Amino acid sequence: MILRKKLIAGNWKMNKTPAEALAPAQEIAVAVGKQPDVDVVICPPFTALTTVAPVLDGTLVKLGAQNMHPEASGAFTGEISAPMLRAFFATHVILGHSERRSYFGETDAFINQKVLAAFKNQLRPILCVGETLAERESGSTLKVVQTQTEKGLEGVSKDQAPGLIVAYEPVWAIGTGKVATTEQAQEVHAFIRDLLTKLFGEAAAQKVRILYGGSMKPANAPELLAQKDIDGGLIGGASLESRSFTELVKTAAAAK
Ligand code: PEP
Repeated sequence: MILRKKLIAGNWKMNKTPAEALAPAQEIAVAVGKQPDVDVVICPPFTALTTVAPVLDGTLVKLGAQNMHPEASGAFTGEISAPMLRAFFATHVILGHSERRSYFGETDAFINQKVLAAFKNQLRPILCVGETLAERESGSTLKVVQTQTEKGLEGVSKDQAPGLIVAYEPVWAIGTGKVATTEQAQEVHAFIRDLLTKLFGEAAAQKVRILYGGSMKPANAPELLAQKDIDGGLIGGASLESRSFTELVKTAAAAK
């Protein structure tokens, strides 16, 4: 059996000016920047990347972005490309977050182009998938997750697959305080693992980290992180305070 290192990623969303980002980044770097047991990524807004990058330099905490455009450059006003993120020392990028899908109309095909561009530029994509409340209530959770996963990963090779990170984020649990039960989460995570096995083969699929996201916090994390196919968390609200975020990293270390 492959032991996957747990990963805790913080998605700061549209919060924190560069000045406001400095202290939490420093606190995270001090608290968990030297521990090798859990991979840690923080994803500030674009405008704080240059402030946070030097703080993480020399630590094990990695820098991620929350989105990017699939093209490397060109007439795409307001967008940021993979080479630009690399120049900011980012190593990870969140793609297909449900807020991007619902507020900005991102389709599976567009998200797929971003995933391919991330790999091409040596950025690790964190591909977000997940169902809305209406979709869960109508019994289509697995179908929705299957479509988002398969379409989002079209053209990804077996060799690239181990570098992939998938985040299962039930939309009804994001920022709502409603967390999926461990059974609900594990069921979907195991389903995603099976899909990945069909797409990339057993060996590669066993290496992919599948994160849970949706109101994860120190109080509910131990049970979720103890599940066989839950390899970490994508954390929104609880990542904004360094204390709760570093507590989650420590919880993940204890769950390994
Ligand atoms: C997210 O937006 O990725 C997320 C999981 O948010 P929260 O933890 O606040 O539910």
